[in-house]
Amino acid sequence: MEKLKLRYYPDAVLRKKAVEIKNIDDEIKSLSREMLSIMQSAKGVGLSGNQVGELQRIIVIGTIPEILDEPLVLLNPEIKKMEGSIVEDEGCLSFPDVSGRVRRRLTVSANFQNLSGEKMQIEAKGILARIIQHEMDHLNGILYPDRLPFFARKKLLRNYRKKRKIVISH
Ligand code: ZN
Repeated sequence: MEKLKLRYYPDAVLRKKAVEIKNIDDEIKSLSREMLSIMQSAKGVGLSGNQVGELQRIIVIGTIPEILDEPLVLLNPEIKKMEGSIVEDEGCLSFPDVSGRVRRRLTVSANFQNLSGEKMQIEAKGILARIIQHEMDHLNGILYPDRLPFFARKKLLRNYRKKRKIVISH
């Protein structure tokens, strides 16, 4: 496998929909390890396949003190139930140096497959529920500024452009 790199907005791959993983093989296992290492060196808490240019339905989540002792790898995740609503600060490794206040659901229950192909279930709340929603959005080509109110989104993108010194045509 080619060396993977973190993709930054407005890389087109971030707007694509990732496809279901049919074969959970050694390639997926090594992809998950590489994603975890990219995420950790970028000091992130979650990463999706799209963000390293791999359009496969995989997300990795780093350890969270008192919530998650081991990193999590979710293959083909599907949200089954969501409840409540809360606004919190959120950032994204594909949007360095900016953050926004995003409304998300408070609790999430999701099905996924682990690296052995077993069907698993996760019940999450708070920060973990937020990460799952954020990363699952990535698999569908949705980015967190999309979830901001109009003016907050404009402001964030303007700020991002300024900091990254790039031109985005919209
Ligand atoms: Zn992100």
